[in-house]
Amino acid sequence: MSYVVTPPAQVSVPVIGTADRFPVHRVYCVGRNYAEHAKEMGYTGREPPFFFMKPADAVIPVDAGTVGRIAYPSLTRDLHHEIELVVAIGVGGKNIAAADAVRHIYGYAVGLDMTRRDLQGEMKKQGRPWCIGKGFDQSAPIGPITPAAQAGKVADAAIHLQVNGADRQRSSVASLIWNIGETIEHLSAAWELQPGDLIFTGTPEGVAAVVAGDTLVGGIDGLATLSVKIV
Ligand code: MN
Repeated sequence: MSYVVTPPAQVSVPVIGTADRFPVHRVYCVGRNYAEHAKEMGYTGREPPFFFMKPADAVIPVDAGTVGRIAYPSLTRDLHHEIELVVAIGVGGKNIAAADAVRHIYGYAVGLDMTRRDLQGEMKKQGRPWCIGKGFDQSAPIGPITPAAQAGKVADAAIHLQVNGADRQRSSVASLIWNIGETIEHLSAAWELQPGDLIFTGTPEGVAAVVAGDTLVGGIDGLATLSVKIV
């Protein structure tokens, strides 16, 4: 059997401590999952979690100790950074209880949910899908995955982002509105999770614009740092 066009390459992310890589299946993202970020976007209160997706090939894997490069995307004048804890699913399942979620997690990484904020805002206003604002090419840079056993206490780790050396975002994973287990419970009620799925768990406050030439350095205590330059 052969294919009528060249099949796409498998997207994968490096894993700390091994030459083996994590193959990416789907990329799920949680919206407005930190109270102070929800506020800066004009919302208050604990609403049920909601989800959107990015294409797997929007992932830009960045090796430890290197600086990834992403192109400033088309159509926008307001490209925003969103630093996020990314959960890598190792064992699939549906209707996973929050209390059982940890056994489905392979590891964790630092990711950036890059956002064409002007286009997202326009789509929101018109009640249209967010795809053009969120799911564009190269919109999901991600650092190496740290296996869960080596990741320390991710649930209350500090999460932070610097742009050109200046602090832009700084919070704690403990400030998630829906924690990692609760997020997996809600998500797996809607989709059957598969090994290889990535979950961007939401961003804390401080989202803002970046321009070509900026260097973004994102960190979560206990995980490998993510560095990305906009070109
Ligand atoms: Mn986000």
